[in-house]
Amino acid sequence: MLDFRTIPASKRIAMVAHDNRKTELLEWALVNREALSKNTLYGTGTTGKLLEEKLNQPVIRLLSGPLGGDQQVGSMIAEEKIDLLIFFWDPMSAQPHDPDVKALLRLCVVWNIPVASNKATADFIFSSPLMNQDYTATQIDYSTYLNRKL
Ligand code: PGA
Repeated sequence: MLDFRTIPASKRIAMVAHDNRKTELLEWALVNREALSKNTLYGTGTTGKLLEEKLNQPVIRLLSGPLGGDQQVGSMIAEEKIDLLIFFWDPMSAQPHDPDVKALLRLCVVWNIPVASNKATADFIFSSPLMNQDYTATQIDYSTYLNRKL
């Protein structure tokens, strides 16, 4: 059985970039500044600060990623407080918080959240008409899991 959740027209977007990919994210964000301005932006500590300066738009800042920011984004996804994630993670360097990164990406699948890990995907998402309208996301029904007999 499927459950449903509405992703609203004006979205709550979380943005995260590892250090080696911050420049790329900032450049992408500048190009997409107008589209981003229609949404509420969240960012992990350093990414959020840089985005706010670059875009001249408020970004709600969470903790820095290695200090728990990725986990904060994950918990907001689980609480249905984030609708979309743009996470430019670094494929070439190990991170001190790799387990948190994996956990965050896992929760995006659990909660059926759109995720962009690179510019091409971010472009495809942002050129979708769904960016400007409500979207009914199907949600796996976890009731069997929740009601399992132990
Ligand atoms: P930062 O965290 O935005 O504070 O640099 C990002 C991350 O490394 O997850």
